[in-house]
Amino acid sequence: MKVLVAGAGLGGLCLAHGLLRAGVDVRVHEREDGPHSRYQGFRIALNAHGLAALHACLPERLHALLAAVSGPMAGERRVMDGQLREIRRLGAVDEGTATDRYVLRQLLLAGLGDRVEFGKPVVGYTERADGTVEAHFGDGTGAVGDLLVGADGVGSAVRRQLLPGAEVVTVPGNAVLGRTPLTERSAALVPGFGTVVHGTGASMLLGRMEFRRPPRLAAAELAPDVRLPDTGSYLRWVLMLPGALPAGPRAWDAVRDDLLAVLDGWHPDLVDLVRRADVVNSSPLTVRYAEPVPHWDGSRRVTLLGDAIHTMPPSGGQGANTALRDAALLARTLTAVQHGTAELPDAVEQYEQRMLEYGFAAVAESLERLPDFTPAR
Ligand SMILES: Cc1cc2nc3c(=O)[nH]c(=O)nc-3n(C[C@H](O)[C@H](O)[C@H](O)COP(=O)(O)OP(=O)(O)OC[C@H]3O[C@@H](n4cnc5c(N)ncnc54)[C@H](O)[C@@H]3O)c2cc1C
Repeated sequence: MKVLVAGAGLGGLCLAHGLLRAGVDVRVHEREDGPHSRYQGFRIALNAHGLAALHACLPERLHALLAAVSGPMAGERRVMDGQLREIRRLGAVDEGTATDRYVLRQLLLAGLGDRVEFGKPVVGYTERADGTVEAHFGDGTGAVGDLLVGADGVGSAVRRQLLPGAEVVTVPGNAVLGRTPLTERSAALVPGFGTVVHGTGASMLLGRMEFRRPPRLAAAELAPDVRLPDTGSYLRWVLMLPGALPAGPRAWDAVRDDLLAVLDGWHPDLVDLVRRADVVNSSPLTVRYAEPVPHWDGSRRVTLLGDAIHTMPPSGGQGANTALRDAALLARTLTAVQHGTAELPDAVEQYEQRMLEYGFAAVAESLERLPDFTPAR
């Protein structure tokens, strides 16, 4: 069996590892030119589903490295005002672990070699009379397999063709995502799982990414063939603004100056986070979610996973976890096909039924939690 995956994000790469473990021939086609082409170093909180999926799919030799480059995430979730006075507590959380998306993606690329092809945007597909499917790439080339998995994120080209009526909604308001190198002083802003600040004119979400060990050094020691970024611990913040920011791409300095104007009068430690933000890893952020879709008839040669089908706001901390869960579930169902104990169309249908149920439940939960993260008016 040959599986084509569109998108080398967290879900697509996790699936590739799970399929390789089962001896399936898998190829991942990624639109970006290389593994470092885009800013993507934000913190991801992995819950029990995400961790179980990674452990099920990644080769065992990488498990210790994953643990070494993760960070603690437990304790009280506090809500503060703009002067850092406590408003309320949302309760303690003691599950999961913090990872950085960029580091995790580099770790997921380990051992996949030329099975991942960069610079290959999938622009569409054709189901062929012999039961195979051909993926078409932006450069005019194509690849043929038994199954095409659209793991190509929120703007999925595969979803657009498979489910043209599926809707992705943009949440009004504006968010800016930033990260600032961790210092003793800024670490004190997030003593527990996370801190939400409801200040005048905006809300700010704070989370800590404190690597247990520096990623590059940990890789050199635990898995020398894996090259991880030389990145330090940081404080991740998301500033949610009720009004629109000027449209179009803008230099970070201009965005930062707008934010500093909004934060006028806020506690200096909060203002300092924006002032000292890491330019490469800070940018405006669009929050989107997918409307539920019923299980579709028709193709069982093309399916979807992760944000490509059930994108959700980051408020629930579930998008990546659900994408990884999809990957592990699909890898498991396809393993049965590879071993001759299931038929491909049945396996895909079974996967889709379950994925749609828990995937859209996660979207609904994330939407319910969105008000906690929007600016108090
Ligand atoms: C600020 C922020 C914080 C978050 N925090 C959390 C968190 O704490 N916990 C959590 O679980 N989730 C979190 N998420 C959500 C999480 O990042 C996403 O849900 C997750 O990355 C989705 O994984 P994916 O593999 O489906 O898609 P992605 O990781 O987006 O990967 C899609 C890949 O497909 C590629 N691609 C796109 N189009 C094409 C094409 N046409 N052809 C080929 N390739 C294509 C893209 O370049 C990309 O590499 C957060 C998101 C944000 C923005």
